Amino acid sequence: MSVTRIDTDYLVIGAGAMGLAFADVILDRTSASLVIVDRLDRPGGHWNHAYPFVRLHQPSAYYGVNSRELGSNRIDEVGRNRGMLELASAHEVLAYFDQLMRQDFLPSGRVRYFPQSEYLGDGRFRSLASGRTVEVTAGKHVDSTYMKVKVPQIDPPKFHVGTGVECVPPNALAKLTNAYHKFVVIGGGKTAIDTCLYLLDLGIDRDVISWIVPRDSWLLDRAKVQPDNLMDNILKQIGAIAQSTSLTDMFARVEESGALIRIDPSVEPTMYRCATVSQAEVDDLRKIRDVVRMGRVQGIETGRMSLDQGSRSYPTNSLFINCTSDGLEKRPTRPVFDGRNVTLQAVRPCQQLFAAAFIGYVESAFADEATKNGLCEATPHPDTQYDYLRMIRDTLVGQVKWASDPELLTWLKDARLDGFTTPEVAQLLASAGQPSSASTFEMIHTALRKIGEYLEEEPSAAA
Ligand SMILES: Cc1cc2nc3c(=O)[nH]c(=O)nc-3n(C[C@H](O)[C@H](O)[C@H](O)COP(=O)(O)OP(=O)(O)OC[C@H]3O[C@@H](n4cnc5c(N)ncnc54)[C@H](O)[C@@H]3O)c2cc1C
Repeated sequence: MSVTRIDTDYLVIGAGAMGLAFADVILDRTSASLVIVDRLDRPGGHWNHAYPFVRLHQPSAYYGVNSRELGSNRIDEVGRNRGMLELASAHEVLAYFDQLMRQDFLPSGRVRYFPQSEYLGDGRFRSLASGRTVEVTAGKHVDSTYMKVKVPQIDPPKFHVGTGVECVPPNALAKLTNAYHKFVVIGGGKTAIDTCLYLLDLGIDRDVISWIVPRDSWLLDRAKVQPDNLMDNILKQIGAIAQSTSLTDMFARVEESGALIRIDPSVEPTMYRCATVSQAEVDDLRKIRDVVRMGRVQGIETGRMSLDQGSRSYPTNSLFINCTSDGLEKRPTRPVFDGRNVTLQAVRPCQQLFAAAFIGYVESAFADEATKNGLCEATPHPDTQYDYLRMIRDTLVGQVKWASDPELLTWLKDARLDGFTTPEVAQLLASAGQPSSASTFEMIHTALRKIGEYLEEEPSAAA
């Protein structure tokens, strides 16, 4: 079969949210051409495989691409997100990216989009429909697939599932036709949280739900990441860290400040993955009484589940819901800019789309690779309670570094995806070194010193 050759300035691999957020800034700030390739038939990446009841866990106001609003900044009037900025559903996210492609990207005349095309490496991709191979000569290769996002629909269980056991991804719950004696939700993360809440919403009795929680998590309180209180919340966390006397004392103080919450106050969480919930969600999750803390599931046979620390029996007519996919894995970081390769990664913890847009800005505004990498230091997705400390540290260090460039600070202040650089934060950063900001910066330095001390205590770091 013949090979087609095309030229472009940027070859973007992946039409998920990160690839599109990067492309959006390049389109906005340069006259470059882009080729976007994805194996899926529609833009939006993992949202195409989402369980129907998923919504963003952080406000729509900070999600998507910089140039286009997602939603209308409404305050929810009903439900567990009442009083807070709206959270788009998976359908809304997909419609948003579809419109972005059809109404903005393609009409620009500078984007060529190749859906259902598998990237083969070295600038080549193959159409999954026609089998035709295309060779792209590109100025830059932008890899938006490095984060390896996994969701249960496309990620089979890692544990053994015996014949006759019904073990499904949460997507299957929308098509329930049977009544089960037990619903067993497996996983301690955000997908499991959503699944437990969905079962309760369906009117399933709380005692029919069994929740397997290998690790408890610190959770961000969504009420504290709204634009009008974000700055206050961050300063409270920094203050709590600065005043703390030990790691345990620090989490107690941050919890007291309201920034972090946990589902069971009697359990010390060992996980932190930036999952964001409302207090109303936590209140409902606390209704579930059968919470199993016996480590990870090793296997399920009819009527029996084996876990790291023992086994449990379940009625034969049980439905097991696998919520164990590592949505955003803690991956090793690599340089964002490396010759003609750009690898999209988080450069502010847990803000992947902001990061992709920021990398697009840096790519368009700076020429020197060392300068670009200095501004775009990748930070891995958090996983443990110690990573909460890294998140605070990397956010602060990055923000102070970026503030030294006034143009960059202006871009941040105006960036829709940047919920963090509010006018107050920008003002504070711009005033670094002024007597009026001395006490805040002293508090930041003390907090950073404490973070360094607590990270020294991390078991794997000491080993
Ligand atoms: C359920 C869930 C909810 C989330 N909610 C939020 C939130 O509220 N707020 C927030 O800021 N973040 C959230 N995140 C985190 C993150 O911002 C999103 O996951 C984001 O959509 C990730 O986009 P991505 O482009 O990195 O990955 P993906 O969506 O996985 O996109 C990668 C794309 O690359 C394609 N691809 C991969 N390999 C190839 C290949 N060889 N050839 C062709 N194509 C390929 C894939 O088909 C896919 O379309 C959430 C994550 C999950 C899992």
